[in-house]
Amino acid sequence: GDSGVPGRVRVAVRLRPRNAEEMIADADFADCVELLPELKRLKLRKNNWDSETYEFDEVLTEFASQKRVYEVVAKPVVESVLEGYNGTVMAYGQTGTGKTFTLGRLGEEDTAARGIMVRAMEDILADTSPETDSVSVSYLQLYMESIQDLLIPANDNINIVEDPKTGDVSLPGATNVEIRDQKSFMELLRVGEAHRFAANTKLNTESSRSHAILIVHVKRSMKGRIDVDHSFHGENSMATNLVSSFRPPIVRKSKLVVVDLAGSERIDKSGSEGHTLEEAKSINLSLSALGKCINALAENSPHVPVRDSKLTRLLRDSFGGSARTSLVITIGPSPRHRGETSSTIMFGQRNE
Ligand code: ADP
Ligand code: MG
Repeated sequence: GDSGVPGRVRVAVRLRPRNAEEMIADADFADCVELLPELKRLKLRKNNWDSETYEFDEVLTEFASQKRVYEVVAKPVVESVLEGYNGTVMAYGQTGTGKTFTLGRLGEEDTAARGIMVRAMEDILADTSPETDSVSVSYLQLYMESIQDLLIPANDNINIVEDPKTGDVSLPGATNVEIRDQKSFMELLRVGEAHRFAANTKLNTESSRSHAILIVHVKRSMKGRIDVDHSFHGENSMATNLVSSFRPPIVRKSKLVVVDLAGSERIDKSGSEGHTLEEAKSINLSLSALGKCINALAENSPHVPVRDSKLTRLLRDSFGGSARTSLVITIGPSPRHRGETSSTIMFGQRNE
């Protein structure tokens, strides 16, 4: 809840508008959900006369702009990353409900369409300076419990290394590219997307079966930014400045992790939807492990069970005490997908 203490996990729901096909085929049928954004509630239709009501930290209707979604879902996390704390933004939902739209849109043709990744980097670059700070990026794909570098796809089977003392997680095998401007970041996202597409075509799978993970490392040197107001000290301010300039800089490292999760649809074990059983098992494993971790965070439990999957092991240091997590669950309006929409909503219900 909103007790003034920043919660460790916040959950928003975002409904996408009907697409052309749904507008025609489902013209005679009502949406499977009704949103009450002021009350932060959502009603899921059970049948013509009955519905179930659910509460969220934020309810984003089909009219919510990308800007508003960024401000509600990601901006508080980005701000805490800039203050030196780790943060995670994730999108969970059935394939086709707007995870990539929400997180990954570049918006080259229309800047209003830019998604969370692009907006986050914009805020990070605006608040950091190349002289004192460093911003760098890794872009990965997690498929069948194996991590592949989306910047250099030949790097696969990347290991997760955990520092036993600090609990910090690192990926020594992953490319980490220094980012100085938005243009090069966009280029990097494009390269990553192309590699993701190519890798999945080769495996004859769809990108909806892998998790895409963007990691933004922020390293800030706090030298000369010590919170002392020298203006009152008159002539002494020179001395104070002199002392602080000889002080070794305080370096703060933090990271923002943005995860475009694999499609959450229940996978038919017969493989009739083109999934292999192994793919199904692997996606179910990581999403259910993630759900358990998010529950533990929401309950302020001291024990977050990260060991069960690569996805949660990778996020271990983003689930720590001061880290923030924001989850956006994406849903579609179609009455045909009521079942999937219902299970997505259940994933987003945390018992606080
Ligand atoms: P996912 O990544 O969850 O599989 P996508 O982001 O690819 O889904 O979205 C599926 C389709 O729906 C795309 O054509 C996308 O442009 C459209 N879409 C998703 N969310 C919205 C939205 N909020 N407003 C308009 N179109 C949307
Ligand atoms: Mg997608």
